[in-house]
Amino acid sequence: MGEFMTHLKSLFKEDDSLSAAERVAMGSLSISGVSSVIWVVTEKCNLRCIHCYEGNREPQRELSTEEAMRVIDRLYDAGKPLTFISGGEPLLRKDIYSILGRLKELGFRVILSTNGTLVDKAAERLASLEIDNIAIPLYGPQESHDSFTRMRGSHERVMRALGLLRDLGMGLTVKTVVARSVIPNLEYIFQMAQEFGARTIYLCDLIMVGRATLLTQELPSKDDWRRILDWIIEQMILGNEYPEIEVDIGLHPSTAIYVMESLRKKGYDVSEAEAKMRKRRLSVEGRGYLSISPTGDILISNYTPIKLGNALNDDLREVIRHPLYRAVGNSSKLRGWCGSCEYRDMCGGSRVKAYIYSGELLGEDPTCLLH
Ligand code: SF4
Repeated sequence: MGEFMTHLKSLFKEDDSLSAAERVAMGSLSISGVSSVIWVVTEKCNLRCIHCYEGNREPQRELSTEEAMRVIDRLYDAGKPLTFISGGEPLLRKDIYSILGRLKELGFRVILSTNGTLVDKAAERLASLEIDNIAIPLYGPQESHDSFTRMRGSHERVMRALGLLRDLGMGLTVKTVVARSVIPNLEYIFQMAQEFGARTIYLCDLIMVGRATLLTQELPSKDDWRRILDWIIEQMILGNEYPEIEVDIGLHPSTAIYVMESLRKKGYDVSEAEAKMRKRRLSVEGRGYLSISPTGDILISNYTPIKLGNALNDDLREVIRHPLYRAVGNSSKLRGWCGSCEYRDMCGGSRVKAYIYSGELLGEDPTCLLH
């Protein structure tokens, strides 16, 4: 999981109350200015998924257990932000239960992102630690999923993991990437998420970094995204399909603006959603969200190599005062069509995609669905 996500359905469907995760993020934001952290605890992985943002390089050094505990102290000092533990495959770290256990002991809200293939042996331990949510990927039925992960049998393991975790009463997220060959499988993915009682489906845009740079033919077009959103509007926002499931969109903040404009054109009153978006800007790089690398480096995002400090030595509350970080969160500094957009305070575009596709962190988001 990367850039902080857009809770799409609740923006348009629910009352103004925050979800538990949003409450934690906003609480920490008000204490320290840091709302949420994605901590990539390892680059090691047992899969070689074709779309992974990790490249094929050897994994870099990673923090020792003692160093990881120091990072947790830093996070604690920063108000216990909403914490995503990610990788690589985090369950490959020998001390992963010490890290998760310490976070939970201190009262953090923790989301663990795993590829699901090692959950068999981990499920009971994760349940006993009361991890708040486990995010597991699904790319389609067996053949599609296994060809995406390049591991025969990975789909079967994911199905088993979802079943085990559901039976243990764990909060679940089913995550996927919006690549062209995954789009025909989205209905299947939604059905599986419903069957396993997932609370959230996380749809992340495909980004041309790491191994995904070889996948130009898999990049979704703007019309692909619009069709997906039109389907979500009909099924889940205007209709009542998948009533228990929230849809989170990753790395694509203009999706919410597109949905708002579509509903407005259909004659619906979207003033409440608009007010919510103004209050909590959707893409929050530069507004409380940080990423921590396996070596402890603090980054604007785990998709960009822009380093702001290191969590072993630097106080996160100071790091977010970095001029570059502040500039990223300041919509009046944006350039190109994002700079002159009437929605820049609500959306701001994806800073990750602006950086990756044009080298300009404050440039326009080339994937904006309004252009
Ligand atoms: S131009 Fe930029 S700020 Fe405006 S809607 Fe598009 S991505 Fe968002």
